[in-house]
Amino acid sequence: MQASDLMTRIAARRDDVVDLTQQLVRIPTVNPPGDAYTPCAELIGERLRKRGFDVTYERAVGTPGDTDRHPRTNVVARIAGRGPGPCVHFNGHIDVVEPGAGWTRDPYGAQIEDGRIYGRGTCDMKGGLAAAIVAVEAILDHGVPFNGALEISGTVDEESGGYGGVGHLAEKGFFSKPRVNHVIIPEPLNVDRVCIGHRGVWWAEVETHGRIAHGSMPFLGDCAVRHMGAFLDRLERDLIPDLVTRRTEMPVAPEGARQSTLNVNSIHGGLREDFEGLPSALVPDSCRMVLDRRFLIEEPMDRVKAEVIALLDQLKAERPGFRYDINEIMAFEPTLTDADAPVVRAVADAVAAEFGRPAELICSPGTYDQKHVARIGKLKDCIAYGPGILDLAHQPDEYIVIDDMVASMKVMASAALRLLAA
Ligand SMILES: [Zn+2]
Repeated sequence: MQASDLMTRIAARRDDVVDLTQQLVRIPTVNPPGDAYTPCAELIGERLRKRGFDVTYERAVGTPGDTDRHPRTNVVARIAGRGPGPCVHFNGHIDVVEPGAGWTRDPYGAQIEDGRIYGRGTCDMKGGLAAAIVAVEAILDHGVPFNGALEISGTVDEESGGYGGVGHLAEKGFFSKPRVNHVIIPEPLNVDRVCIGHRGVWWAEVETHGRIAHGSMPFLGDCAVRHMGAFLDRLERDLIPDLVTRRTEMPVAPEGARQSTLNVNSIHGGLREDFEGLPSALVPDSCRMVLDRRFLIEEPMDRVKAEVIALLDQLKAERPGFRYDINEIMAFEPTLTDADAPVVRAVADAVAAEFGRPAELICSPGTYDQKHVARIGKLKDCIAYGPGILDLAHQPDEYIVIDDMVASMKVMASAALRLLAA
């Protein structure tokens, strides 16, 4: 079969990819806590088993959140081609973030309207995963010859760091040579762009300490919230203005994320947020703040950490009673795949063929599972490419454009065949 024939056949699978996306979205795999992972993994696994794939379910026992009630169930499916050769692996996460407020449609209804499917996870990233599955099925059903192997995985917990998902599978060798050579992750980065990496991330929790006392006599205690206020002031004055001046050579999109950033994720001190009735008159003895620091490939991670700790130590030296603890929550280095790497070339060429213009190479402001593939799997040939619109991820009324899914199916099939030429 000619490649152009395959593209026509793929376009005819529009209803199939819509149907599969709807099925996936209707399983509310909300993380946290990690609901319904097993039925979602089984939907994918049993579908592919019927088409001749070897299917493995891999529960990430012992990883964060894994319990018998909320098992971290991943699925990996593999099918061999005609002769020896490399393996192209499509990886999609099956977890979604909670719907949140502001929806005008059922978040799990997968309702179709104006050429779009609406629902939590349509864009990020069940639509992309469905597109990869149907694209691979098209290659198989039409008997297009390829060498090596094709793999598809549905993995959990990407939204909470990916430890029980791609991180766990990478520890088990699922994302290393010789098993796998090229990885495509259909995250929502827009259908005509190829994402070759991401900025680094450092999450930390800072706690300031004080001394409890009656609120009518605060001079008898020491207010932990005021100490935290002093730290916030240092961040505002000394760190954040400096971060905005640091620019990266990485093609991060959107443009605003080409600088270093710091988000104060949360802050809490004093009475519990869910207290009822009137507040009790207390001086808070603890205040906690979660920092979400995104950094550039030009910034060494130890410097990123040290400059925050230096501000805290300065306060300790200067401010009476200032005491703190800092705990790291998560840290990942930036990742960047070579623009000339085989998977980048294959997908970029396929995008150019589909859209008649060059693919834009970008990097993501946030991390995704590529970090585990690079760090644990030691596999550099990995990108993100998928049909969703980046800005819609995690938003109310999230949707996927059906035409984009179909276009991405052509790109993914064509890229896989370029990498597995028989
Ligand atoms: Zn995602």
